[in-house]
Amino acid sequence: MSVCKPKNTGATANTSTMKRAQLVFVPCPGIGHLVSTVGFAKLILGRTENFLITMLVINHPYDPSVNSYVESLFATHTQIKSITIPAIAAPPVEALTEKVFTQFIRDHSPLVRDAIVNQVIANSPDPVASVIVDLFCACFIDVAKELGVPSYVFFCSDAAFYGLTVYLSEREDGGQPKFRESDLDYTIPSYANPVPYRVLPLVHRDQAYETFGALGRKYKESNGVIINTFSELESHAVNTLVARDDLPSIFTVGPLIDHKGKGLSGSEAAKRDEIMKWLDDQHENSVVFLCFGSQGAFREEQLKEIAIGLESSGQLFLWAVRKPPSPGEIMPGYYTRYDEIFPAEFLEKTKNIGRLCGWAPQVEVLAHRAVGAFVSHCGWNSTLESLWYGVPIITWPYYGEQQINAFQLVKDLGLAVELTLDFRRDCSTDFVKAEDITKAVKYMMEQGSEYRAKAKATGEIAKQVLLEGGSSYVAFGRLIEQWLGNKL
Ligand code: UDP
Repeated sequence: MSVCKPKNTGATANTSTMKRAQLVFVPCPGIGHLVSTVGFAKLILGRTENFLITMLVINHPYDPSVNSYVESLFATHTQIKSITIPAIAAPPVEALTEKVFTQFIRDHSPLVRDAIVNQVIANSPDPVASVIVDLFCACFIDVAKELGVPSYVFFCSDAAFYGLTVYLSEREDGGQPKFRESDLDYTIPSYANPVPYRVLPLVHRDQAYETFGALGRKYKESNGVIINTFSELESHAVNTLVARDDLPSIFTVGPLIDHKGKGLSGSEAAKRDEIMKWLDDQHENSVVFLCFGSQGAFREEQLKEIAIGLESSGQLFLWAVRKPPSPGEIMPGYYTRYDEIFPAEFLEKTKNIGRLCGWAPQVEVLAHRAVGAFVSHCGWNSTLESLWYGVPIITWPYYGEQQINAFQLVKDLGLAVELTLDFRRDCSTDFVKAEDITKAVKYMMEQGSEYRAKAKATGEIAKQVLLEGGSSYVAFGRLIEQWLGNKL
């Protein structure tokens, strides 16, 4: 299906005879954001030789490991030029809210402008066809406007969530009250089912509501919104957005997946080899994989409860366990020894049925035939990766927009089994009991064939849409035509 106003051929064959143009990306400094942005840049370079791509890299102010992750990404993808934006003073972690974070990003505007003028425009005769900004970097749409360059939003989350930001901006502009716990479930156009208050992402908080509303309002000033999804997956959300001729065109070009993942070396690489070897020895669909994204780290009592739940499920498991951030830090750490946290009895009893790791080689793990289910925080990259490899999801959202992603997967799309839809890392009373973990894991592993079949079918569609004539291929072709038409 076409996701924009018609006139699309998807053909790009003739573009190689055209002149070259530059694309400037401004991703947000977060692993989930960078992974799909780099994936998108690679897709562009694989499809046409018309573009030179530069990424302006904003320093991650709280965790040097994200910056080294970025370095490793660009070391593997050398066709993409990267320019590091000078670091600026960051707000203290304790003061960090969505509003403060978007202001911190906005404070980079003069530096982003300088980099585009002095290091992109000045260094190449090729015109800049577009500045492509991350969903948290919508403020740079103003920089693009000032330079007379078209701007596009690269929305690395899903179409339904983009629809939510539009809904928020309009709800606010219409003078409607903010969300209240006592309200009935909300009719939000991009979701097929009414959305309960408890699964609304951060936006149940006033400040976040205003911040996401302001982002939704800003996106409308762009020339288009590129979404890492495919129209067959989120047909309801996509249809509601396409039906609106007052919004910028959307381009559903996904799924964009970095199949290489993070480059691992030293002990991380050895651990990876050990995990993959262990998986090789297991039967097809026999292992449940647990991983909660780049920031997933539970409190000690919750970790112990997961261990009890897994042990009583009797299933083989691979679990990425991270340590909660130290005071004043934002990113989780790693346990050097698991007996720091788990009772020796658990480690002894599960030594043949389970494997624990810090950073999991997630994409490789999901691609392995032994993996039969994924207990996931429902980050959008993880969701797409799991579906691509046909692994059914058990939902355990954690932060960001993950609660509403889990809701969409379970209620609107019927693609996942619910363990929890509303767990929040910042709510000290949220706790998932061992018996619920056991139940969800056993259910998926023993009776989840319908979900596995659906995930596999969705994975097949995901591959088809990227091939010539597929919906994402076509949407992408239209985007390229628009970029080349913009300047050449
Ligand atoms: N990831 C990984 N190993 C881990 C944790 C995360 O490879 O132990 C990767 C995962 O494959 C995905 C990304 O990091 O590509 C996480 O992105 P997502 O949008 O799912 O979640 P976020 O980290 O933004 O919460």
